[in-house]
Amino acid sequence: MSGERYFREALALLPVATLMLDARGLMAMVNPQADRLFGYECGELVGRPVELLVHALRFDSDAPHWADPSGIRRSHGLLPLDDVCARRKDGTELSVEIDLSAFRFGDENVTLVFVIDKSDRYELRRQRQDLAHLTRVSTMGQLASSLAHELNQPLTAILSNVQAAQRFMTADPIDLAELREILNDIVQDDYRASEVIRRIRAVVKKGDLEVIPLDLTGVMRDVVSLVHSDAIVRGIRVTLDIDATMPLVRGDRVQLQQVMLNLLLNAFDAMNEVPPVDRVVCVTLKSADNGMVLIAVRDRGHGLTADKLDKIFKPFFTSKPQGLGLGLSISRSIIDMHRGRLWAENNNDRGATFYVALPAGDATEEDKSR
Ligand code: ADP
Repeated sequence: MSGERYFREALALLPVATLMLDARGLMAMVNPQADRLFGYECGELVGRPVELLVHALRFDSDAPHWADPSGIRRSHGLLPLDDVCARRKDGTELSVEIDLSAFRFGDENVTLVFVIDKSDRYELRRQRQDLAHLTRVSTMGQLASSLAHELNQPLTAILSNVQAAQRFMTADPIDLAELREILNDIVQDDYRASEVIRRIRAVVKKGDLEVIPLDLTGVMRDVVSLVHSDAIVRGIRVTLDIDATMPLVRGDRVQLQQVMLNLLLNAFDAMNEVPPVDRVVCVTLKSADNGMVLIAVRDRGHGLTADKLDKIFKPFFTSKPQGLGLGLSISRSIIDMHRGRLWAENNNDRGATFYVALPAGDATEEDKSR
């Protein structure tokens, strides 16, 4: 029938693997994308039950429904599922997203099944996250010795305070006021040490993207504290200039920390050859008129030649002997994902400034994930 032919042709034009099921759940039409996805020859699937491809999709009475792992029939029947296990002809499994649409075709009730292969997308996203995580860990590696030093200070102080307390305990009478003070110092030092650890853990954390309303001031202060001892070792002063009232920004804390950490450490590296008095990095955070929050990291280093202004954002571009050349390209993709912009400019006098502009306020979750 010509209606059926047109419909078949329309299915073939869809960019998504699509199956048309009859009222018993048998595949009546299968578009070439679906044949390819599941590794079947053209026509091979026609007349066979859909469970062959997607086990969870059942038709054991006249309507399609999702089988629960418990075997209990779900009441919501045709709701789409976004993480379903499907099986190719060769027995291998793939993760798919499935959407169903029921309608009448001629005098029959049919169901269209749209199958989206998630494995490629998942794999790509997972690889991107792994890479970002790897570079975070490698960045923290650069900071390891200064952080170890920073951690050592409160630990040494705790030890000498405990030894002092032990001495006080042998006195008769025991000076309780003095002991109380020593214990307070121990608590403060312990707090300092656990703060260092908290900041390290916050950066090396591995996990899924978590987009929440963020106070960038806190994020920036954490990062500046993290590089504090490295800055001291390198003789660099970091100044922070933050607007009194900063709007929230929706974003992933770990990823935005990664960007700021990268910009700060690059600024440090750019000033290696600069006389110590000039080794200053100025970080400003302000709310711009165009509804964006603007972060600027300004150094007094060697700056960027004109050809480098764009090249530095390409993967694997590095001018450092130990560099990976991934920091800025990952930072840019993180900022793009947050619907912001990351760019660099040379300063009029010396050095370069890296800018990050992020949309202020509460853009929707959906907007962010695009
Ligand atoms: P890496 O730090 O591993 O080289 P990045 O992607 O972070 O990787 O940086 C790429 C390159 O960009 C650096 O090697 C350096 O040449 C240049 N660059 C980055 N930040 C600055 C800066 N603040 N001043 C001058 N050059 C910079």
